[in-house]
Amino acid sequence: MQYTDEEICTQFWDDPSQYHGSVSPPIYQTSLFAFKSFKEFTEAQKLERENYVYSRGVNPTVQILEQKLAALERGEKCKCFSSGMGAISAVFHTLLRSGDHVVVINNIYGPTTELIHYLSKFHISYSVVDHQLTNIYEAIQENTKLIYVESPGTMLMKVVDLQAVTKIAKEQGIVTAIDNTWSTPIFQKPLTLGFDLSIHSLTKYIGGHSDVIGGAVIGDQDLVDEIFQYGYQLNGAVLGAHDAYLINRGLRTLPIRLKQHQENALNVIEYLQTKDEVASIYHPSLVKKDSPYLDKQMKGFTGLLSFELKEANFLSVSRFIDALSLFKIGVSWGGYESLVNSPVKDNNEQQLNEQGISPGLIRLSIGLEGSELQIDDLEKAFQQL
Ligand code: PLP
Repeated sequence: MQYTDEEICTQFWDDPSQYHGSVSPPIYQTSLFAFKSFKEFTEAQKLERENYVYSRGVNPTVQILEQKLAALERGEKCKCFSSGMGAISAVFHTLLRSGDHVVVINNIYGPTTELIHYLSKFHISYSVVDHQLTNIYEAIQENTKLIYVESPGTMLMKVVDLQAVTKIAKEQGIVTAIDNTWSTPIFQKPLTLGFDLSIHSLTKYIGGHSDVIGGAVIGDQDLVDEIFQYGYQLNGAVLGAHDAYLINRGLRTLPIRLKQHQENALNVIEYLQTKDEVASIYHPSLVKKDSPYLDKQMKGFTGLLSFELKEANFLSVSRFIDALSLFKIGVSWGGYESLVNSPVKDNNEQQLNEQGISPGLIRLSIGLEGSELQIDDLEKAFQQL
């Protein structure tokens, strides 16, 4: 039976009758599980990824979240981690060995790029392909073992034709993984488009309240079991039961929150389009016309966007950001609160140009306060320019 996303978020796998009628499942705040007999204990240990033995394995509270995320992504299995980077590292460490090569598509989250670069220490190499898949065939080598995509990508939110990627990867027998954090499984389900693994930072929309850090990997049972055994249990980036409880709580309202993030973001974009001071706006909703595949792969748009000031320099960016008050200055995104950030520093203009990023780029995470208040705040900042 196929549950709707709303059912999965609110009801699936947390049956109150299992917990004395409690509609909020208990937090199994335990590091280990005790057994009635030594025989039972040794039997359970034979399959630690299925049995409750130690919480650097399976924990019932974390498992509720894993079951829900697997169902939302239409995947067989999910493993949660203590952060998005914990999940990403586990995938790379499990799937790659010395001599392997990775193809990276689109603008990737900075620390993920650093990780891939760091893997050269273990003789793992990589090539980068842009979001339009220019030169993808040239980038693939005999030793390419993984294609890693972020779509929409970091900072400029560029989108990739996901089915085009999986078609090429399948022809060549290469495993595919995607960072699906921007869309969440509510708006994009990459496994249904042929991806082998979908990865999340649960810290963003899924947690949704900026009070917890977590990550997840979803895919076929065999692949996730392999990641469990190596990248998860040996690297040890374990999601705690209390954090899993908070993320589960966030998940219950995810579909409804996303609708509001989307509505607010579209209103803010409409407003930004009227401003002479703005050179460009970046959000997947704006490239729908030129990306016919988008309707097939995305059901909606979340609230992370960026735009460029025409006066593209550190001083203008600082002046604009400092004039905001509703938008808080900070890293991360996807929470209830509006946030502003920029990659621009007083000494990195050349570096940004090399990455195709304007020294006037500002990123907004559009929160739930309402677009009227958000636009008011932005208008005050434009007046300061
Ligand atoms: N992926 C993307 C696209 C991100 O923006 C981030 C964090 O900002 C991560 C992964 C890493 O997640 P975490 O901070 O939970 O480790």
